[in-house]
Amino acid sequence: MRRLAIAMALSTSAGLAQAAGPHVHGQGNLDLAMAGGTLLVELSLPAADVVGFEHAPRDDDQKALVKDALARLGKGSNVLEPAPAAACKVTRESVHSGLSDSEAEEHDHGEESHDHDADHDHGGHADFEARYRWHCDHPDKLAWIDVPLLEFLNGVTLKVQLVTDQGARADSLKAPHTRLSMDVQ
Ligand SMILES: [Zn+2]
Repeated sequence: MRRLAIAMALSTSAGLAQAAGPHVHGQGNLDLAMAGGTLLVELSLPAADVVGFEHAPRDDDQKALVKDALARLGKGSNVLEPAPAAACKVTRESVHSGLSDSEAEEHDHGEESHDHDADHDHGGHADFEARYRWHCDHPDKLAWIDVPLLEFLNGVTLKVQLVTDQGARADSLKAPHTRLSMDVQ
């Protein structure tokens, strides 16, 4: 959260960074900060909503579920589809689960590396957390972002916090409503 929180603080005085603390099953958080041509995204999902459990995987089936989820969430294009007119490209994507540190996967696209947050919960809950960065050649054309991720999540509501150069707002998305308007007016 730290980097996005900083971006948000720079972008707005509203201080919309989402509260840390125990998650709510059935509810994920999606934070987006758009500044210039750069879109920063942080996603947090209860592991219960992704793989159905929140403990370290206990057998091969559960290991496979975690591996598949990390592979899916590790690709920004599986999570968000910015409006094509904006010509956005993923420049960084990373994911890890609080289920097993050894499962962490990271794909860096040549920009500075970063450390994983060590703030995942060991007290009975666990999250999947992912970060993405896009660069958009035409940010003025970024009218909306589709969230195909929601089609994989069974009934999960995503609480959205959106910050742009124009302002900030909160939203809530749940399939079949998977399109986020970038209009903050
Ligand atoms: Zn939980």
